[in-house]
Formats: sequence, C-alpha cells, structure tokens
Amino acid sequence: MPEVEEFDLALIGGGIMSATLGVLVKKLMPESRIVMFERLDDVALESSNPWNNAGTGHAALCELNYMPDSTDGSLPDPNKAIAINEQFQVSRQFWASLVQEGILDNPASFIRTVPHMTFVRGQKDCDYLSRRFQALSSQPLFAGMEFSQDVKQISKWAPLITNGRDSKEEVAATRIEQGTDVDYGAITKQLVRWLSDNGLHLETGTEVKNLYQYSDGSWQLKLGGSSYSRLIKSKRVFVGAGGWALKLLQRSGISEVKGYGTFPVSGHFLRTDNQAVVRKHLAKVYSQAAVGAPPMSVPHLDTRVVDGKTSLLFGPFAGLNPKFLKSGSILDLPLSIRPANLLPYLSVAVKNFSLVQYLLREIAKPRSKKIEELREFVPEAQASDWSLYEAGQRAQVIKPVGRLGTLQFGTEVITSSDGTISGLLGASPGASVSVSVMLDVLEKMHPSEFSGWFSGIKKMIPSFGKKLNQDPALAKRTLASTAKALGLKA
Ligand SMILES: Cc1cc2nc3c(=O)[nH]c(=O)nc-3n(C[C@H](O)[C@H](O)[C@H](O)COP(=O)(O)OP(=O)(O)OC[C@H]3O[C@@H](n4cnc5c(N)ncnc54)[C@H](O)[C@@H]3O)c2cc1C
Repeated sequence: MPEVEEFDLALIGGGIMSATLGVLVKKLMPESRIVMFERLDDVALESSNPWNNAGTGHAALCELNYMPDSTDGSLPDPNKAIAINEQFQVSRQFWASLVQEGILDNPASFIRTVPHMTFVRGQKDCDYLSRRFQALSSQPLFAGMEFSQDVKQISKWAPLITNGRDSKEEVAATRIEQGTDVDYGAITKQLVRWLSDNGLHLETGTEVKNLYQYSDGSWQLKLGGSSYSRLIKSKRVFVGAGGWALKLLQRSGISEVKGYGTFPVSGHFLRTDNQAVVRKHLAKVYSQAAVGAPPMSVPHLDTRVVDGKTSLLFGPFAGLNPKFLKSGSILDLPLSIRPANLLPYLSVAVKNFSLVQYLLREIAKPRSKKIEELREFVPEAQASDWSLYEAGQRAQVIKPVGRLGTLQFGTEVITSSDGTISGLLGASPGASVSVSVMLDVLEKMHPSEFSGWFSGIKKMIPSFGKKLNQDPALAKRTLASTAKALGLKA
C-alpha cells in the first residue's frame, strides 16, 4: 500500500485567503510543509478572480453600508468604518512589504489609485452624507476627504453621473483621492507562484471530498479528481473553500460549525469597454442601497483595471441562486441543511422575507430595467455600450443565535477547539481585509506560538498591534510609505 503523504498545513481552495495564509505561515515557519488543493484548473477562478468581484479596496472611504445613519439626526458613528479602514491598512502594509521583497511583482500589476466617491440624491440622503463627512473628515485615516453639493464640482470629479441630470435634483458627493482598485486574482496568483517556488505542493483540478480527524489530532483528507481517489494527512487544515467552506466544515464533524448556514446571493454587473466612455470616468462611485436591498448590493459605478485594460462596471444586480460557488451546484443549499441549522435557516428566511422577495424580483428583472437603473446613475448611458455578465457568488453567513439564526454580512472564522482546523465563512468586506482575517486564523490555530511571532509579523506589517487612527503621525507615515511602495497617490 503506498505511503500517505504528510503535511503540516493543508490549504483547501486556491483563493486569496488560502494564498495569504500560506505566505504568512511560510514566512513565520519556513520549514512548514504546505499543500494546496484547488478543484478548478487554476487558482483564483472563483470569488478572487478579478471579473468575479468589484476590485474595490474596501476601506470604508465610500461605502455607506459600513456607516449607517444615526436614528436621531446626530453624527453617524464612524467606528465600524474606521475598523474596516484599519484592516485595509494591514493589507496595504503586507502587500507593500511583499513588493519590496520581490514576492509580489510591480504593484501596477495588482493595485492602482482610483478615487473613491459617494454620490447621493434627495434631501434626506444629502443631509446624511454631509453628517457622514463631518464625522469622518477629521479622522486621520480619512484625511483629504472632500464634500460638495455643487453640481459643477461633482461634474469635475465624475462627469458621467452629472451630464444630462435634471439640474433641479438635489445631489451631494464626497470624494477621497486615495481610494484603490485592486486585482485580487493577480495578488492570489503571485502569492501562489512564490509559495510554489518555496516548496508549496500545489494540486489544481483536485477536490477535497471529505476529511476525518485521526486520534493524534491530525487530519486525513480524501481527494477526488475526475478519475481517482487518494488520501493525504495534515497536522492542520485551513478551509479556504469560499462558499463551499460550510460544506467541508460540516463534513469535518467539528461541533463549532453546528447551527451555521449559508445564504447565497448571486451578482451580475453591466460592463463597458468603450474607451470613449471609459475615459470620462476615473472613480469608484458608491451610492445608497435601494429599499429592501442587501447592504452589499449598493449600486456603484467603478473604474476597473484588469490585465492593464480599463473598463467601467455598474452593479451589482443581486439575485437568489442556491449555488454556494459560481461553479457550484444547485444542490448546495438543500444539501447544507442539517437538524442543527434548520431553525436558523427558517428563521432567517422569515425574518428576511422582504430580502428574499427583493432578490427574487431582481432575478426576474429584464436587461432593459437594469439599463434604466444604470441611467439613474449615468443619465446619458447608451444601452449598446453595456453588456451584462455574471460575477461571483456571495455566500453570506447565517449565524446561530440561541435556537434561531441571524443573517450576517461580515466574515466568520470557525476554528475547532484544538486549533487543528479552521475555515472562513462569509464574503464581506472580503479580499480587502484578507490579511487581518488570516492573522486571526493563524492566532486561533496557533494560540500559544502566536505572541512569539510578533517581531516576524511586524517586519511585514510595521503597525501590527497598533491602531493607526489613534496615532495621527503614525497613520500619516504609514499611508505615505505604503503609497510609495505600491505606487499609489499619497
Ligand atoms: C460580486 C462580488 C463582488 C465582490 N467585491 C469585492 C470587492 O470589491 N472588494 C473586496 O475586497 N471583496 C469583494 N468581494 C469578496 C471577495 O471576492 C471574496 O471575499 C474573496 O475573493 C474570497 O476569497 P476566498 O479565498 O475565501 O474564496 P475564493 O476566491 O472563492 O476561493 C475559494 C476556492 O476554493 C475552491 N474550492 C472550493 N471547494 C473546494 C474543495 N472541496 N476542494 C478544493 N478546492 C475547493 C474553489 O474552487 C475556489 O477557487 C466580492 C465578492 C463578490 C462575489
């Protein structure tokens, strides 16, 4: 009988999360034997692929859902927005250090400055945006944010959204020049390339079908391809399988995943490659979500650069689809139902009935209606310039609360009590915060060793352990140094 191959860490899935964790582990424990399994023919083909996500460097510079309005007209609470920005600065520092080391290529291959704007209409939202600006503009991580209700000024920032608009309409916008557009697929590929050059055993076209824990705490992974089945052994496992993480964590039998479920939301975008239109817009412009829409479905008009070519995206148009991955199965949702998560699933469906109705309505919406929505943003848009395409599948978390469940729009790290297996559920803020989420995974998997790695982590993330927003001088220095290393506007 052939010997079972043994590894220290098995990464299930070839997306940005697994790739980031792999690099952190290799840097902190260079002797680690790491294996990565990806069921598709290459890495970064699911959510991390540039055409499957919007490529926004989420730093809460423009997304209203990270800073909802107050209920009493006072300044909205900026804390969640600041926390997301802090997490994005961790990613920026990590990527900057990897560029300096030559692990990541020329930064223009994966990140660029694209101003982030928020654009709203109507008196109520203009007032909210003005108060949001007041609450954020004095925060060190949001320095340089501008606000305007002057159409001429907004037109200088983003002419496509003002040209042809009714001059009587009340509008407002904020803009911050230091926003980014990021190709998370390029980052993933470059990280995996470095890992492969440094001993990673990468198997694409290989699906992890099942996993069992041995009595010594390590894990057996059952692998399947089109024509074979094989076993490997690993001391630790990270389930970075995107939407399929729930399924694998359930199969592992760990109690920590009991009661969890996944609420899948599909997404489509309109895209134009017509350079005459593309040239008129350089920004990611986020607006207010429609009533009943999920928070990650706020409409936005984005400059998007992939493989050196610039396009514009508008969307997302959300929909209900039972698959947990874009190339998943329509049985994903029904097969994820267990006695322990049945009530959480049902309670989320009942509590969020208006969301379910909204998503069903959205699916049925014809292209002409989507073009009408685009015209609310870009009044002079020509239908012939824009084509509709399918982006990735968002697998939102249903979290058990008591015997019922709640729908969450963040990410959730699930780790077994012995720290040998960890997995990531949820999709937001997503790839932007991959580094801080993977540091969290590392700490949960190695609780006793983690503090011994602080100096190693600080070499990659100099501000590690500090809150930049509480130290204006450090925030300024960090923003400037990462901007320089990544070729971004300071
Ligand atoms: C429409 C949309 C827009 C988004 N916009 C943004 C944005 O603007 N900014 C942002 O930061 N984030 C955004 N996100 C979120 C971001 O894309 C994800 O959070 C991130 O890419 C997730 O990375 P991942 O590695 O966890 O998963 P993925 O990239 O999905 O990788 C998981 C991999 O696991 C593989 N896999 C699954 N099961 C198995 C198995 N059993 N065996 C082997 N391999 C397996 C899959 O094939 C896949 O390649 C968006 C997502 C969507 C869907």
